[in-house]
Amino acid sequence: MKTIFRAALCFILACSPAAVKGQLSKVYDVVLSGGRVIDPETKLDGIRNIGIVGNRIAAISVEPLRGKEIIDVTGLVVAPGFIDLHVHGRSNKEQEYQLHDGITTALELEWGIEHLKEWYASRTSKALINYGASVCWPFERFRSMDKYKNGVEHLRQVTLKGESKLETLFNVIGPSYADTPTSEENSITLSNIRKSLEDGGIGIGVPIGYLPKTNPEETFRVYQLAGELNALIFSHVREPGLISIHEAIANAAVTGAPLHLVHINSMSLGKIRVALELIQAANKKGIDVSTELYPYTAASTLIQSAVFNEGWQEKLGMTYGDLQWVATGERLTKETFDKYRVSGGAAIMHMMKPEWINTGVSAPGVMIASDGMPFSALAHPRTAGTFCRVLGKYVREDKVIDLPTAIEKMTLLPAKRLEGISPPMHRKGRIQVGADADITIFNASTVIDKATFEKGLEFSQGIEFVMVNGVFVLRKGKTVNEVFPGQPVFGKFKK
Ligand SMILES: [Zn+2]
Repeated sequence: MKTIFRAALCFILACSPAAVKGQLSKVYDVVLSGGRVIDPETKLDGIRNIGIVGNRIAAISVEPLRGKEIIDVTGLVVAPGFIDLHVHGRSNKEQEYQLHDGITTALELEWGIEHLKEWYASRTSKALINYGASVCWPFERFRSMDKYKNGVEHLRQVTLKGESKLETLFNVIGPSYADTPTSEENSITLSNIRKSLEDGGIGIGVPIGYLPKTNPEETFRVYQLAGELNALIFSHVREPGLISIHEAIANAAVTGAPLHLVHINSMSLGKIRVALELIQAANKKGIDVSTELYPYTAASTLIQSAVFNEGWQEKLGMTYGDLQWVATGERLTKETFDKYRVSGGAAIMHMMKPEWINTGVSAPGVMIASDGMPFSALAHPRTAGTFCRVLGKYVREDKVIDLPTAIEKMTLLPAKRLEGISPPMHRKGRIQVGADADITIFNASTVIDKATFEKGLEFSQGIEFVMVNGVFVLRKGKTVNEVFPGQPVFGKFKK
């Protein structure tokens, strides 16, 4: 309500005769001229000129504006920069694919990141787009066990060198999943989580699907802490299927922890309609639960993970031939599966139906998030194409949703979801006076993903300009070299 009032006030002030005169005589750093501006919060959808000063939007006007630099964006859509709540790449290698997909803020919230203080420091003045991460519960749990102190230190050294990777984390902490922490270790985990929140973590990543044997009491204690602190939990639930979704919602309900369920498509599979109904019903009861999906019919993860523990075929409704090995593109057999399960690496899992994805994309309130993987030439195409695929396939070609609704799912909804845990997010996901100048400009009639399961990663097409904090990182479809305007996004407990 407050934000709408503020937006309306800005609108009134911006339109008063004195304000209009002021706007016209002022010279802005950059003017984006003549584009179709879409702001999902104020429902603006019209031709406007935008004036930018420094890192903020300073004017939105139907009258022409004067600028040190004027970019003609006639015929293009001017939208808030896309916000991706769920990425696993931690470097500029992945960020370049993301910015060609229109993303201006990419956050690792499902898993979170270990040694957050050192990791945030390692990215300072080096990132193409905005970055941030949640506290990694599996790491804080690992850190609570004295016997792993060498592993903890090893990961710290890797982070200090700026070389931290999800796969390294996986391999180092993997052995701890079989441990049952003592009650003392559990309380150390909770105090570790508090400390990492103070290092800037955006909520708590609880990918329990990778530690599915976790004692329910242990999980409950983490939710209890989140409820006490009002810290958002991001969960990849225990197992695919409704029972695990029930478990997560029940924990949120009894502890008051705000909860975001990641990739509802691969967690609910053929039960996506019921899963969304459960979330809606929870919301009606005042339980704070949200969700997201990526627009592909295949999932992807590391083959050595618990997702492929005994019984995976029945749980996931798939078999060896539905698995594609990322390193080579080959489909697996029992023999190659057994071999790679030991050696480790990423697999793509072809296991969903197109109708399930349509259901998720069109459902009100469901956000778009990529679950983009660490770079590898044949990584899951969602790593490079999620947002443009929604705009090209689901909006333009298949007409599953309209353009402003799609933009809302990629900008305003994720920004609003994070505002409680990261208040500066109220300046993102919007094209409004005073908002951060994170802006994505694209051609609605050509925008499309280009990455495929067969050919691997490729930049998306149709994103023409991307501005991050007032600085162009993409111009006329090309990456601008040697600019690093990406800023950290922190949680509210940062000290
Ligand atoms: Zn996941």
